[in-house]
Amino acid sequence: MLEMSELALTVQVESVSKPVRKRVFVTRILPEDAMTLLKQKFDVEYWPHEYPPPKNILVKKVKEVNGLICLLTEKIDREIIEAANPNFWGISQIAVGYDNIDVEAATERGIYVTNTPGVLTETTADFAFALLMATARRIAEADRYVRSGKWKIPWGLMMFLGQDVWGKTIGIIGMGRIGTAVAKRAKGMNMKILYYDVYRNEWAEKELGAQYVDLETLLKESDFVTLHVPLTKSTYHLINEDKLKLMKKTACLINTSRGPVVDEKALYKALKEGWIWAAGLDVWEMEPTNPKNPLLTLENVIATPHIASASYETRTKMAVMAAKNMIAILEGRIPPNLVNKDVLKVRPPTKK
Ligand code: NAD
Repeated sequence: MLEMSELALTVQVESVSKPVRKRVFVTRILPEDAMTLLKQKFDVEYWPHEYPPPKNILVKKVKEVNGLICLLTEKIDREIIEAANPNFWGISQIAVGYDNIDVEAATERGIYVTNTPGVLTETTADFAFALLMATARRIAEADRYVRSGKWKIPWGLMMFLGQDVWGKTIGIIGMGRIGTAVAKRAKGMNMKILYYDVYRNEWAEKELGAQYVDLETLLKESDFVTLHVPLTKSTYHLINEDKLKLMKKTACLINTSRGPVVDEKALYKALKEGWIWAAGLDVWEMEPTNPKNPLLTLENVIATPHIASASYETRTKMAVMAAKNMIAILEGRIPPNLVNKDVLKVRPPTKK
């Protein structure tokens, strides 16, 4: 028979050798590589649907778990953040943009927020350039034409005329990671590269010959304007009626950043009334966009459903990166892609 003190010791030893596993809630089924990493470390629960979990589920989960892995479709507002239990440490977003998260509220509560920069840069730049080419050369419209049986003349001298890309001027708004990757592609197309940013990008100036100009000059002189800024208070409706009126009548606007960077009502007017020539849009003010969105009635709009980073390789890398960020947070290390560095002062990492 064990004495009471020995029994207590046995229980204690058992609890040391079998620590309670941390709990993580994931808002989708992730690629296997990421799920395996997470399951090795944590008890993982996930939302099994393709659509985002409703707010009440998120509120319930942050009360129970230690970390949340989410997508940009989840609005993580102050109410959700304030519902989190005291042992909730982190929100790991699977995207580079994180405008869906109230980062200020998270910092106040000592909650770490991470994103997945870099791994999606080239894939997103490929897509932005594909959209640029497709818009210039009317590829989606021509595809619809062939499929609908409207193609009657074998070859028309003036049929489906588009805009040249080679040797034209590209205006890049936001010369960060993706903007720079687009500039590299533009250089390969012998384009003159103008850019506008809140910071100078000396590397792009020196290596790619990019010229820093003010926004007005960029809009007036570019044949293609491509957006690569994050969505913030200062970029909301950055492209509005006044800005669209500055652009060339032959210009194309490409948006793979965030929908609300462009005022869609103004863009519709600009495209309908011929202030600009065409637009390629991967992102929308509301997602999914309403099928009745007037922009979708225009032949000079190419519409895609927020897929710029959607390649097999990249989506897996993003999920794995998000998993590693969460592991670092819950193991008490500074995660590699911490967005809110000020949180370290509010709640320094503690070895858990
Ligand atoms: P980044 O931080 O490397 O670059 C953003 C650049 O924008 C920076 O150089 C910054 O100085 C500049 N900027 C910020 N505010 C500005 C302002 N008011 N005016 C001018 N310039 C400003 O980010 P990144 O990795 O290149 O990603 C850019 C954005 O692209 C993300 O925030 C995200 O919203 C979007 N994105 C979309 C997709 C998609 O699927 N469509 C994929 C990846 C990224």
